[in-house]
Parts: sequence; structure tokens; C-alpha cells
Amino acid sequence: MSTDEWSDYAPATRAVRAGHIRTHEAEHSEPIFATSSFCFGSAREAAESFAGNRRRNVYSRFTNPTVRIFQERLAALEGGETCVATASGMAAILSTCLALLQSGDHIVSSTGVFGSTTSLFNTYLARLGIPTTWVSPHDPNDWREAIRPGTKLFYLETPTNPLTEIADIAAIAEVAHAHDAILVVDNCFCTPALQRPFDLGADVVVHSATKYLDGQGRCVGGAVVGDAERVGEQVFGFLRTAGPSMSPFNAWVFLKGLETLDLRMHAHSRGAMELARWLQAHPRVTRVHYPGLETHPQHELAMRQQSGYGGIVAFELEGGQGAAWHVIDQTRLLSITGNLGDAKTTITHPASTTHGRLSPEQRAAAGIGDGLIRVGVGLEEIGDIRNDLARGLDSL
Ligand SMILES: *Cc1c(COP(=O)(O)O)cnc(C)c1O
Repeated sequence: MSTDEWSDYAPATRAVRAGHIRTHEAEHSEPIFATSSFCFGSAREAAESFAGNRRRNVYSRFTNPTVRIFQERLAALEGGETCVATASGMAAILSTCLALLQSGDHIVSSTGVFGSTTSLFNTYLARLGIPTTWVSPHDPNDWREAIRPGTKLFYLETPTNPLTEIADIAAIAEVAHAHDAILVVDNCFCTPALQRPFDLGADVVVHSATKYLDGQGRCVGGAVVGDAERVGEQVFGFLRTAGPSMSPFNAWVFLKGLETLDLRMHAHSRGAMELARWLQAHPRVTRVHYPGLETHPQHELAMRQQSGYGGIVAFELEGGQGAAWHVIDQTRLLSITGNLGDAKTTITHPASTTHGRLSPEQRAAAGIGDGLIRVGVGLEEIGDIRNDLARGLDSL
């Protein structure tokens, strides 16, 4: 079935079934094609295949049947025409930029993006003559004012990490399109189970599959979703030449992850909502960042744009790093790690880890205080997560 035909089915059904065409072995679960290359029936067939028919497998840097199932399933979930899987989320972002931009082009990006994305744009793309102007995720006017003659690409993540700020995808897409730029959205935090950027006007969606698409913290991978020309030809063309492709084993792990994506994302959201409300009522907590709370500055927008609020909750304590480290060190159950999007709840002190390389001024400008803690709410019983945090909070 094509992506179009899958649109007749509900997201939960697509997540379980899309993309799998059984081989002659009639396997029920998706097979892993652990092979680097594929054989031809004749010299002529080999010659014709090398000439570039994408449907015929030649070499697993280009295409692989297990990877293709993952690509088709994610395209069906996002409602995009096609998908290209990559070795990591960063490889997806790099491939998108190098395939679609050239020296002299200009990016406008939200400041609230993943740390390595900031470094990629500021250090490596800038070196190639592709500068970036940084704007706040909130105000579409800031995006309009940042446009210059060479502006080709708008880039954002929503909700942002770790403060869960919400960017208005539809409004920013409109600004981009009025100036013939494209909008690329990193949909890692919500996944298509909670947010569908294409329905709001995005042109390309990128993913770190490492997070919720896997959902159990096993593999590193990524994906680019979009139309047949930009993604199917240009990004795929870059990938098959440059080689940051996804391994078939990782694709298989992500496929198994996708089967439970819908269930998991709604469970993460339920748990995070409950934890956010509890934190909000705790006397030691000065502020809670969660889009599901009525007090969140973009709560209305999140309600419109998302079908769930996601699993990331951040909260602030008086007492700076000392207080934050105390709460983190008092946990016994939660994993102290920079990762998120896992069945296991994770806890992070952004100022000294994920955002530790920023200067204190840059951190202050980004709103990352020393007393800020980020929790990636997993799938454990929420009462146990609460108790684990209460130990530190109650002894501050
Ligand atoms: C982790 C992450 C990335 C990078 O993905 P990797 O798989 O680690 O390369 C990009 N964007 C967001 C929002 C992320 O959380």
C-alpha cells in the first residue's frame, strides 16, 4: 500500500502494519535483511540496477528491505510522501541541510533546538558559507524580520528542550512560504502520535529515532520525511553518496518500537501530566514547565497543535545547582542520564550537562537556570516516580 492508501487507516494501525510486504517465506514479523549487497540474475540486470532504479536493492548504503519497511511506516505515520532513514538524528539534519542548501544560502532557526543542531549550524554549516540567524520560537514576526535574499530554510523544534516552549508551526510555515523558503520541523519530542507537522504546513520533518520512536533506549538512528522530489530525490541522493545510512538491525528495532508508539506516547503524556500537577503543588518547586498545564504560556497553542502534551517535564528549584543536584542524587529509581524518550524515566540537570558547554550568559538567555531539572517521564507507575523525587524535594 502507498502512503496515500494508509491514510484510510488509524495511526495506531499504521504504526503496527504499514510498510510490511511479506517475502515468499510468509514471515509474520518483519525480517532483518543482514546483507550489505544484493545479487542480479544477469549482467544486464546488474547494469540496469546500477543505473538507478530505487525499487531494486543494489547495496545497503542505498536501500535495504528492512530499512525500507521502517521508512514506509514512518512516512505513513507522518503523512509524508516518502522517508529516508539515517544513522542518527544528527545525520538526518545534516543530510537535509547538505542536500537542500548550498553556499550563499541562509537558515533562520529557532534558538530552542537540540545542542548539536546549534553546533552543526554555527560551526560546520557556517564554515561552508551557510549562515544561520537565530530567532525566538514564539513570534512569527521575528522570523519574518530575519529573512534575507538568500533565506532558503526555516528550522524549528516544538516543544523545545528542556523548557517545553511551543512554536506555532502553521504561522511560521506561512512566513516561510511567503518568501519561498521551506520549513523543516524536528518532530522528535511529540512524534507523529501527538503532532503532525505536515498538516500544519511543514515541508520536511526530521527525527531522532533514538528517542521515542525506539522508546526503549536501544539504538541510535534518524529519519527525514517529505515529498518525493526534496526527500525522495535530493536527500536520498545525498545519503546514497555520502553514506550516513541506517543499519538494517537498527531499522528492525525501530519498527518494533513504532508498533507501540501510539500507546506509549499517550501513556508518557498521562504520566507527565500527573507529575507536572504534583510538582506544581510542591512547596519547594518554584516553577513547572509542561505544555499541559493551564499556567504554561502557550497552553492554548499546544492544545490546538498537539493531540497530547508529551513526556518531558522541567521544573525549577530555589537554591541553584546545589538543590538540583541534591534532588537528583536522592533518586534511586530514575536514571541519571542525558537521554529521554525511554520506558525508563530519566532525570537531567541541563545547566551542567546538555547545556553545560554554553557560557553562563548564553544559558541565562536561553532560560536554563542552575536550579532547573528535566524529567523524561517513562512508563513506570507514576506514584513510584513521584516518591523518588519526593525524597530529595522533601529534604531540601
Ligand atoms: C537527540 C536529538 C537529536 C539528535 O539525535 P541523535 O539520534 O542523537 O543524533 C535531534 N533533535 C532532538 C530534538 C533530539 O532530542
